[in-house]
Amino acid sequence: MKCPACSNIMIVVEHDKVELDYCLSCQGVWFDAGELELLLETAQLEGDHLSLDNILTSPEATAKERKRKCPTCGTMMKKATVGHDPEVIIDVCPRGEGLWFDRGEVGLLIEQLPDKSDSQGRIINFLGEVFRVSD
Ligand SMILES: [Zn+2]
Ligand SMILES: [Zn+2]
Repeated sequence: MKCPACSNIMIVVEHDKVELDYCLSCQGVWFDAGELELLLETAQLEGDHLSLDNILTSPEATAKERKRKCPTCGTMMKKATVGHDPEVIIDVCPRGEGLWFDRGEVGLLIEQLPDKSDSQGRIINFLGEVFRVSD
């Protein structure tokens, strides 16, 4: 699959049954809808503001970032904001196929998780495993 940001071929990284597509060149990450659900489940964050439905139905964000095409279906993705302070602008496939995070955006969101205990630890562990490949 091609990176929606820089068009390089992404690699698949897997941990704990969740597979992500990761771009070594720009360090962005693609979560497809199923992967995002699995990850939220693993972290027991279902129903949190990070749900795909919430992101899909949120109003389009006004962003200076260039629009990108969904790496799965080629549809122009919508900009959506998630989180607060800072708000993170991500790209979401309007068909609900997945989400694109630029480099560092996943980390920004993790830092904002309301509950600093278990669930945050699990996500950090997960991403630590996943991104070890890039060291
Ligand atoms: Zn890239
Ligand atoms: Zn799509």
